[in-house]
Amino acid sequence: MIMCKQVAKALSRERYYEMPWHRRIPMFVHIRLCVMCGKYHQQVVDFQKGFRGFLEQEGKGELDAGMHLSPEARKRMKDQLETP
Ligand SMILES: [Zn+2]
Repeated sequence: MIMCKQVAKALSRERYYEMPWHRRIPMFVHIRLCVMCGKYHQQVVDFQKGFRGFLEQEGKGELDAGMHLSPEARKRMKDQLETP
């Protein structure tokens, strides 16, 4: 069984979702069972997962909607991009 300290250290250094499964599983079990740090680290893991979702969306360009460009500016940009 891994210790609370090891979980805290690992989560502060690396992202939970980037860890290999053989490290993630004991960590997951600890977070689920530990009354000392489980609740806190569950929040850390949830936050990191949410962050990954944000990065994935950004990668797809779905955050583009937040950009304030007028339709004319958009069209000009599009025309420029399409001109060989
Ligand atoms: Zn713990």
